Amino acid sequence: MAAEVISGKAVAKEVRRELKQRAAALAEQGVTPGLAVVLVGDDPASAIYVKGKTKACKKVGVEHFDHYLPASTTEAELLSLVDTLNRDEKVHGILVQLPLPDQIDSDRVIQAIDPAKDVDGFHPANLGRLLTGAPVFVPCTPLGILRLLQEARTPLKGAEAVIVGRSNIVGKPMSALLLAQHCTVTICHSRTRELDQVVRRGDVVVAAVGRAELIRGDWIKPGATVIDVGMNRTDEKLLGDVEFEAAAERARAITPVPGGVGPMTIAMLMHNTVEAASRRLG
Ligand code: NAP
Repeated sequence: MAAEVISGKAVAKEVRRELKQRAAALAEQGVTPGLAVVLVGDDPASAIYVKGKTKACKKVGVEHFDHYLPASTTEAELLSLVDTLNRDEKVHGILVQLPLPDQIDSDRVIQAIDPAKDVDGFHPANLGRLLTGAPVFVPCTPLGILRLLQEARTPLKGAEAVIVGRSNIVGKPMSALLLAQHCTVTICHSRTRELDQVVRRGDVVVAAVGRAELIRGDWIKPGATVIDVGMNRTDEKLLGDVEFEAAAERARAITPVPGGVGPMTIAMLMHNTVEAASRRLG
């Protein structure tokens, strides 16, 4: 294998170490960062993510306020909780774990969160600020990816960046971040023609599709930096969206799955929460 394997686990640990100091300093000034974590229903994957997030809170010194609601929760009930959390002084960040049950309109819930507490960065006000180049809260996964690219000393200015996936939580905000770094950005999706040819152009490839090993190793341009966001559970094994071994033969740097993007997403949630708390001090 030629590529450097970018350890999101190690970088996330370093981020948490920095944040722990910031959180302690804030607490000394009377503001203990607080994150409200809302989980509706009993989806096992969501429960695992939420557990990871509360564990990170403990490590960093962020107070977490857990709200586990039954799957039968109505939209009105959830909106009422969000309203209470918006007005709670001890809560600096609000995280509503997605997906939500069918009877609840996720967009309506996201839009009900006070943008100043929107540590997931999904509120249209925050996505708009990101697009206009004045970000307040950036969605955690793309923010974590940018940090990984920087840790791996990836040349970004003028680089061809190919993002596969156009979700609101990964692909679209990732494109805004890379554009701000002066990449030439291409976003691919399910209707993209000759995906392999487009991916071959990428000096930076970000795969956020949700299809195990869709991106073949021989599509990777020699010397590219490859970020694999995918988390696909197959036969008890977690696989990324990139054919790792073959891609690592050609890439200069690549993230593994697991241990790549996943830990960074949680670390950046902590980052956004500590930021939200520090803004309280002005
Ligand atoms: P999503 O909302 O499901 O969107 C998937 C995107 O992939 C869509 O834009 C879709 O195109 C595109 N796509 C699907 N099949 C394709 C194909 N054959 N060729 C090209 N594009 C294709 O995805 P997401 O929420 O961004 O998540 C993507 C993956 O990342 C999932 O595995 C998810 O579990 C993982 N994830 C990981 C983290 C982490 O922290 N590690 C965080 C978030 C997500 P259309 O728009 O045309 O449908």
